[in-house]
Amino acid sequence: MTQRFRSYIDGQWVEGADSAQDENPSDLASPVGEYAAVDAAQAQAAIEAAARAQPAWGLTSPQQRADALDFVGSEILARKEELGRLLAREEGKTLAESIGEAARAGQIFKFFAGEALRIPGEKLASTRPGVDVEITREPVGVVGIIAPWNFPLAIPAWKIAPALAYGNAAVFKPAEIVPGCAWALAEILSRAGLPAGVFNLVIGSGRVVGQALVDDRRVDALTFTGSVPTGNGLLRQAAARGLKIQLEMGGKNPLVVLADADLDKAVEIAVNGAYFSTGQRCTASSRLIVESAVHDEFVARVGRRLAALKVGDALESGVDIGPVASAEQMQTNLSYIGVGRDEGAELLYGGEELELRTRGHYLAPTLFAAQPQHRIAREEIFGPVAAVIRADDYDHALQLANDTEFGLCAGICTTSLKYATHFKRHAQAGMVMVNLPTAGVDPHVPFGGRKASSYGPREQGRYAVEFYTTVKTAYTLA
Ligand code: NAD
Repeated sequence: MTQRFRSYIDGQWVEGADSAQDENPSDLASPVGEYAAVDAAQAQAAIEAAARAQPAWGLTSPQQRADALDFVGSEILARKEELGRLLAREEGKTLAESIGEAARAGQIFKFFAGEALRIPGEKLASTRPGVDVEITREPVGVVGIIAPWNFPLAIPAWKIAPALAYGNAAVFKPAEIVPGCAWALAEILSRAGLPAGVFNLVIGSGRVVGQALVDDRRVDALTFTGSVPTGNGLLRQAAARGLKIQLEMGGKNPLVVLADADLDKAVEIAVNGAYFSTGQRCTASSRLIVESAVHDEFVARVGRRLAALKVGDALESGVDIGPVASAEQMQTNLSYIGVGRDEGAELLYGGEELELRTRGHYLAPTLFAAQPQHRIAREEIFGPVAAVIRADDYDHALQLANDTEFGLCAGICTTSLKYATHFKRHAQAGMVMVNLPTAGVDPHVPFGGRKASSYGPREQGRYAVEFYTTVKTAYTLA
């Protein structure tokens, strides 16, 4: 029987106005299920329920909130294989990557269960005699959550968990192509003892349901992860109505490889960062900037490594790279491969769709030798397509690394303490990696970027408190 993923509004599972298929990108002949997309009126009903439920939830004991989040975290961790399997079928990352992501989602709920008990405040001496000054944090209210498809468990977790921990109510809109993961998360949350309306899931399109979250004045804060064009559109609308907003968007993350690097390690770091999770990570190393002295050897070794990678069904054992997540993303990847060729970038490896045992969106990992001005070296592709760029020396490599509109993550492979230290200080990015892939972060520390990659306070770790609470300063004369 086809599984049907429904939305969750005001403590009830609801049917949608429209139905659509939930595809399996590894095997288009066996879809994951179907989903019921809600309309704008249903999204408004979810916002209404959240607005009604939030004041009492914001005043609950932090222990009650901690217990609810701990329940969710424990269940996700206990079911990580099963949830990982659903994720692999729906989004297409390999089973090992998917189980890892499910575990990460569980750990995030556990982390914020603890944070619910550690909501910070301050007491300062007043400049006036006899007066006390207290600074406390209160919930912002109703939080709208708009998520992308590439981390369908972890990204919703790192938005839903802090929203609830700090006493907010949440209305969560997942990306259209991953309704199953969103439903699975909501199903666990529906049994966590939350009062009706505190958490709502609205499955539907960005244009209708996402837009309803931006338009509705009962939404007090909006957290978005997705592409730059969508994020910038939301930012303009948020500014027009004074909506608190946080945006995590694209990247074109550089990985610098210096001549003094351990080349075997650098190749592993580059291949992992650029191609694992099918290159569909905002932190992917899509620009490999390699010092001239080792450029050709690096390229040859990466080519050999790519030849050994197995592309295939996300659930099959031994597969290193799953399918591209959707036909639309495949189209984007292929069109950029065409752009790279037309611009005169040299195709070193891959570039073609693969026909495998099952019909799916399979693309060979692709490597171009590019010039810094090529579009494939400047624009986010969001697939298993990387550009290698030659640098004269460290200074040139740093200049190339920073020559981008984005600023999410930047990495360097070097054995030089001097260059590593300089790079950490001068890379224009929110996150810097030394001898590590640009993708792959810890859950308990801030995540986010600079320049066109991000807007607003950081996500994750205790820095999440900035976005999900508002500060109150109280003066008392006893
Ligand atoms: P997207 O911008 O197409 O969609 C993101 C979400 O916005 C989806 O839920 C979509 O339905 C919704 N949306 C679309 N139009 C909308 C509108 N007009 N109003 C309101 N909501 C709307 O992005 P995507 O293709 O799902 O995800 C890929 C992008 O996400 C990449 O650019 C990637 O770099 C970025 N990303 C960034 C991070 C980060 O933390 N920086 C993490 C993961 C992904």
